[in-house]
Amino acid sequence: MTSSNSTQLLPLQILWDWLRQQSLLRSPFFPVFFSLTIYLSFCLPYICLDILCSQLTLIQRFKIQPQSQVTWGMAQNCLCTILRNHVCFIFPLSVVHWYFRSTSSPPLAPDMLTVVKDILACLLLFDTQYFLWHVLHHKVSWLYRRFHREHHFYRATFSLTTENSSVWEMLSLSFFTKLNPSLLDCHPLTEMLFYITNIYLSVEAHSGYEFPWSPHRLVPFGLYGGAQHHDLHHLKFKVNYAPYFTHWDRLFGTLKHD
Ligand SMILES: [Zn+2]
Ligand SMILES: [Zn+2]
Repeated sequence: MTSSNSTQLLPLQILWDWLRQQSLLRSPFFPVFFSLTIYLSFCLPYICLDILCSQLTLIQRFKIQPQSQVTWGMAQNCLCTILRNHVCFIFPLSVVHWYFRSTSSPPLAPDMLTVVKDILACLLLFDTQYFLWHVLHHKVSWLYRRFHREHHFYRATFSLTTENSSVWEMLSLSFFTKLNPSLLDCHPLTEMLFYITNIYLSVEAHSGYEFPWSPHRLVPFGLYGGAQHHDLHHLKFKVNYAPYFTHWDRLFGTLKHD
């Protein structure tokens, strides 16, 4: 019996066995395709809410800045920036990475507990790295003007503002996202699941909506910031620098709730 057969009932093993057979994953186009598909899929439900928002007061109740409206021009502007960054920068870099990548992959999938622990560790590391990067790019005015101001173009967040950022900001965040699973020696499947979780949480933080099931309501003791937390950063600039969790802002006195 092979090691793969012995664990065939585990859902992660079934998923991993299926992924290893997909030739698309070995294509140099896959990172850009994957990144754009996941990102736009997470944005799509919020884009639908933005379209319906002007007609349905029920949706407006959940909007963090109800007076703000997302127009087609705003969405188009963000989409152009996202496509420019992916086509001109992410794609060439992913081709270089693809050329030097390891062609072997482990036959066994990780167990669920390891995946959850590793994703949480990657998120905490990413949160710390982005907090430091973010504070630096707000405190040094040249860095703010040159690299971070583009992300602050809109003072009310909506899902497509998540990756509406300069090339340097996008490359910095991509570097942290790639670095952390390597530092923690994560399984490639965990790396992929971390990437998806990270994009989902980033889009949720920029969604501009606050629902009863939003992540910050599910995490106890106010440890998680979420959409309201990050929307306030876009509105007031000098508060809530961490992307997800609240401990760094609490420690440095930059945490604000309203
Ligand atoms: Zn900022
Ligand atoms: Zn933001």
